Amino acid sequence: MDAIDRLAQLFEKFPGIGPRQAQRFVQYLLRSSPAIRRELADNLRELGAAVHQCPSCLRFASGERGECSICAASHRDSSLLAIVASDADLLALERSHTFSGRYFVLGGLISLASDKTNGLRIKELLASISKRLQTGLKEVILAFPANPEGDATAVRIRDELETSVTELKITKLGRGLSTGSELEYADPDTLKSALESRR
Ligand SMILES: [Zn+2]
Repeated sequence: MDAIDRLAQLFEKFPGIGPRQAQRFVQYLLRSSPAIRRELADNLRELGAAVHQCPSCLRFASGERGECSICAASHRDSSLLAIVASDADLLALERSHTFSGRYFVLGGLISLASDKTNGLRIKELLASISKRLQTGLKEVILAFPANPEGDATAVRIRDELETSVTELKITKLGRGLSTGSELEYADPDTLKSALESRR
């Protein structure tokens, strides 16, 4: 297999990318200047070296080790914690400028096919919450997409929280998010209304 095919195969592993799009990416790179290819290669290498997982919200962030910029920001409201499925959902909420609390990234959703919680950071979440209770946490918002996996995950997390933590208000995103909505692609107004109508 030559370099062109190998690269196309790598692009095919990206979410939502099929063989034809993968080929188009490769063709684009072949036509691009060496400077662009070098920049891409350098950035990919840096991803491994400079990116780390924030110890508080568990999202991936670049820059200094330690807490990410959101967790380190002192002006944010520590009484509110949004539990999101992915880094992309966290960023969607940030872009909507409607949430000023803290985050925890669960690392996925429960798959209905297997009902497994493999890879979900439930233990880490519980540990994080008991720590956050000491710094004023009052409410946890289950900010999952409005689809069956999101609902199943919300039920499971609510169960976990209710059995281990008593003095905590648990809400989930309300109306605004239509059924099937991915947080990642929801517009800021929709997210705002979903947050405001949480219950
Ligand atoms: Zn963080």
